[in-house]
Amino acid sequence: MEAMTTPNGTSSATSSCDCKLGRIAERYELARLYEDLVAYWTGDADEQYSIRTLATLVNQHILEVALETAGVSFKEGEVENTYRLLTDDDVSSGTRVQTRNELQRDGVPVEQVESDFVSHQTVYNHLTGCLETSIETPSDEERLERSEEKLGALQSRTVAVTSDTIDRLKRNEILEIGEFNVNVSVTVTCEDCFQEYTVRDLLENRSCDCQTESVGDDS
Ligand SMILES: [Zn+2]
Ligand SMILES: [Zn+2]
Repeated sequence: MEAMTTPNGTSSATSSCDCKLGRIAERYELARLYEDLVAYWTGDADEQYSIRTLATLVNQHILEVALETAGVSFKEGEVENTYRLLTDDDVSSGTRVQTRNELQRDGVPVEQVESDFVSHQTVYNHLTGCLETSIETPSDEERLERSEEKLGALQSRTVAVTSDTIDRLKRNEILEIGEFNVNVSVTVTCEDCFQEYTVRDLLENRSCDCQTESVGDDS
């Protein structure tokens, strides 16, 4: 997030925050994570994650950056697995010690990294306290854009699943049809005036024709 970095190197997303996450933000490039974190928390992403899951994401990110900083290369899934070996109650102490030793040997400051791991309480306080304002202020345009993307993806998925299903029935000779096309169009009807809109048009207009007077009127 280059744009958020001021000339003296402090990030505007984090400089105002004095919690543990704020203090370790620069060391672990947490700015890279914030947008996703907030989206997962508010449900603007496809899924809404629990605070526990978000804390795990933050800690895996911390571990990943620590590995990167130490120049350790890792394959997909390895960060998650290493994090599990370091923290999961089901992992034997022998395995944990071995994992810590290997990291140490690779030049990763394990003790530091472990003490930088955050609790879900810290993440919760950060999201509800420190970041409160930025959570509540995605612009209307951003919200519309994200909603449009979400619905677009949903429609594409519906098209794909429908095509596959028809295709399979056709191959098994349960259903007969020539070459076919699947179109999905979702419409929304205003119950005040029974005007029907495609979702796209409605998002673009941001109002039913019968409601235009009240839109954009903040008073
Ligand atoms: Zn904070
Ligand atoms: Zn209407």
